[in-house]
Amino acid sequence: MKNLTDIRYVKSLLSRHGFHFSKKLGQNFLIDPSVCPQIAEMGNAKAGQGILEIGPGIGTLTQQLAMRAERVTAVELDSRLFPILEETVGEFQNLHILSGDILKFSVPELLEQEFPGMPVSVCANLPYYITTPILMHLLESGADIETITVMVQKEVAEKLQAPVGSREAGAITVAVNFYGSVELLFPVQRDSFLPPPNVDSAVIQIRLNRRYDALLSDRAHFFSMVKNGFSQRRKTLVNVLSSTMHYEKSMLTQILAEMQLPETVRIEKLTMEQLITLSNHLAKIHPDAQQ
Ligand code: SAM
Repeated sequence: MKNLTDIRYVKSLLSRHGFHFSKKLGQNFLIDPSVCPQIAEMGNAKAGQGILEIGPGIGTLTQQLAMRAERVTAVELDSRLFPILEETVGEFQNLHILSGDILKFSVPELLEQEFPGMPVSVCANLPYYITTPILMHLLESGADIETITVMVQKEVAEKLQAPVGSREAGAITVAVNFYGSVELLFPVQRDSFLPPPNVDSAVIQIRLNRRYDALLSDRAHFFSMVKNGFSQRRKTLVNVLSSTMHYEKSMLTQILAEMQLPETVRIEKLTMEQLITLSNHLAKIHPDAQQ
């Protein structure tokens, strides 16, 4: 098996293929020998398990996944990497590499086609320029995924882990906590990558459990309210929701009072349960009917 953490080998491989890193595609490849085996071990890569990888790069994590999992499907956007992947991980019979942008795939259909009847987890060293869109795409797809174990920028890891209702939380924190629970697995220094990024990183794991699904009356309304609320998080909820979703201010104030919240409250102060209660109240009211 090729040693993809031997920096001399990797540099000669890349130069042989005339490959130059694309900053735009978030190409920072892992070269620390301890990181990929840990992601694979902690990310559920084992017998009987299907693994979806996003962005295999030159295959450093891919080979660790394919060694352990029943089947691995890796989606890569940059077609310049395919001849390299053929050389580095072409030997694995249980590996299927697909060309394309992960955001354009229907995730439930992809899993159905690639892993029929098999439990599936996602593992990836994510391209940082689209971390949030990829996580939202996976979560909102409703696909039956057990765990999502991904390398993200340290600041994003902190945001994902922040308690809902704290200053550090954002719309993505609410979304991730709505669909599952988040755990920080381990930090990764910037010199673990070639080329090193300008930021430190961390591996996080989202365990999907959809524990709040039953409490919510209208999921689309909830996420629309959360996205609007956090888009102007320094404004009061009454001001944001009246301007973005056209609810009457007096009605919003009344609902907040019933929930024993001050009319000056901002979205970042609300807990998950309070966000759900507020959304359930508002979803019953058609804003246009008030005007
Ligand atoms: N897994 C490799 C590793 O750990 O060394 C590479 C990780 S690198 C941070 C991110 C990879 O995602 C790159 O190979 C990049 O080309 C690929 N990528 C970027 N945008 C993508 C997209 N929209 N869909 C699929 N792959 C993408």
